[in-house]
Amino acid sequence: MRDKQCGAVSRDDIGSTLTLSGWVFRRRDHGGLIFIDLRDVTGIVQVVFSPEISSDAHEKAGDIKQEFVITITGKVRKRPEGSENPNVPTGEVEIYVDSFQILNTCKPLPFQLDEEEPSEAFRLKYRYLDMRRPEIRKVFIERSRAYKVTRDYLASRGFLEFETPFLTKSTPEGARDFIVPSRLNAGNFYALPQSPQLFKQILMIGGFDKYFQIVRCFRDEDLRADRQPEFTQVDIEMSFVDVDDVLDLCEGLMSALYLGLRGEPLPLPIPRMSFGEAMELYGNDKPDLRFDLPMVEITHIFKDTEFGVFRKTVEDGGAIKCLVLKGKTLTRKDLDTSVEITKEMGAGGLIWIRKEAGSLKSPVVKYLKDGEMSLMDEQLCLSDGDVVFIMSDERSKVNDVMGRFRLYLGDKYDLIQKGRFKFLWIVDFPLFEYSEEEKRYVARHHPFTSPRGSIKDFSGDYGAFKARAYDLVLNGVEIGGGSIRIHRKDEQMEMFKLLGHKEEDAAEKFGFLLEALEMGAPPHGGIALGFDRILMMLLGLESIRDVIPFPKTQKGTCLLSGAPSKIPQRQLNELRIRVTGEQQ
Ligand code: ASP
Repeated sequence: MRDKQCGAVSRDDIGSTLTLSGWVFRRRDHGGLIFIDLRDVTGIVQVVFSPEISSDAHEKAGDIKQEFVITITGKVRKRPEGSENPNVPTGEVEIYVDSFQILNTCKPLPFQLDEEEPSEAFRLKYRYLDMRRPEIRKVFIERSRAYKVTRDYLASRGFLEFETPFLTKSTPEGARDFIVPSRLNAGNFYALPQSPQLFKQILMIGGFDKYFQIVRCFRDEDLRADRQPEFTQVDIEMSFVDVDDVLDLCEGLMSALYLGLRGEPLPLPIPRMSFGEAMELYGNDKPDLRFDLPMVEITHIFKDTEFGVFRKTVEDGGAIKCLVLKGKTLTRKDLDTSVEITKEMGAGGLIWIRKEAGSLKSPVVKYLKDGEMSLMDEQLCLSDGDVVFIMSDERSKVNDVMGRFRLYLGDKYDLIQKGRFKFLWIVDFPLFEYSEEEKRYVARHHPFTSPRGSIKDFSGDYGAFKARAYDLVLNGVEIGGGSIRIHRKDEQMEMFKLLGHKEEDAAEKFGFLLEALEMGAPPHGGIALGFDRILMMLLGLESIRDVIPFPKTQKGTCLLSGAPSKIPQRQLNELRIRVTGEQQ
């Protein structure tokens, strides 16, 4: 139905007669001529209806409205001097229509395609219209490019692509499962995979050595801007590897994606930081390093202090830590607001000290010794105008609140260098973490993660036992994570035991993996990268919904199709399901 796509018409076509098809993007009537920007996925080209070329076509062109689908045939001409449009690739030429046909009409649109920003509800309900907008279309063209970059890179490194089941058993990734009733086994349910974790391990035991999959994962969680109930991971598993091998491979992939999407090389290697250091300096395990502002520990300065608040912390074995905000002019109101903000974040209090005309000023200085103040001044290298924010409490609380307060300061005082991409590996995670909800230790990543050394070395100190696990962080957002796995059954059983699983439970849930581990499982490890988040960030977009063709709303609904929805009683009967109540 066409000789070429609209965006591909160029000065090389001048003089030839072409047939083109597409949508009517804009239409202008000028001095007896009708101009149409004809659009398809590749771009737009200007089409002219002139009574001198075809009075019939010109007359009928009156019927053509916005977003009609048409096919035209006409001669390509160079645009008259001065009327070229350097902003579009086809801006040197236009096509004078000999004949055309309307392939489909279009109702008046619910929003204009070149409008500033229609509401998101409208955009999602009419996603097919939203996708016709050039900037949205571009995102999905980039997404398609990113699949190809990923596949090409991994194939070039000897990876094999697999698909793993969606109708499966629960995989423990720390979220709630979506479940699917089985008609053939009424009363039984499949779980949609939170990740293909167990299958990719099984593929290693099957001897495939290097696996990857660009795969949908399903997690029934409360949604935030960077979460969706179904999302895409680049899932990777490798045999006979240690941590460095997985990180090197991933750096190569990230660099290929960065080059593909941003057009420049990513400086490698990506720096690494231990989990412990990240918590002490930035108060969380995904620090945003687009600005520095680390926490500085000053407990030692106050070991003999007479200031009650600090003395109590020192006696209780807590921590006194500060953030030093340099080169910003803060008013008294700014300082008071900071105190309020940290209180809302859960702090017992926040102390500020400001350096002015060479000396330290604050409501608390009268309680501090001269030696303490001069040590602070010296060790924190303070200059006039600098503000020191101090928190003194239990160490984990100080780290948590000051970590969040650091992000607040970064945002409020424009410390974040926008447009920068700061990648970081976090390594040496603890193997376990305490779950307040379950009142027991749980696996920090998942229970298949190998400890550093052997599980038999476990001393009983859950907090101190380290994992061979790693996360990839970009600008304060976790974009990937993985680990070296336990590859022996005895160690895996020991791990389940430490997590408080009964032997029968482990066998019931993961029996197939446990048995496979006994039949020549090679050492293996891997990672999963959040494909949507990576795209969102590298394309400079705000929401994960912007990079997913058909995303769900914050409430998990699809505005286009109307899912989730009720199902007929007949289907419920077949599944032997009785709905006992409905949420209002
Ligand atoms: N399955 C893990 C996840 O989805 C990643 C991994 O350990 O490879 O987070």
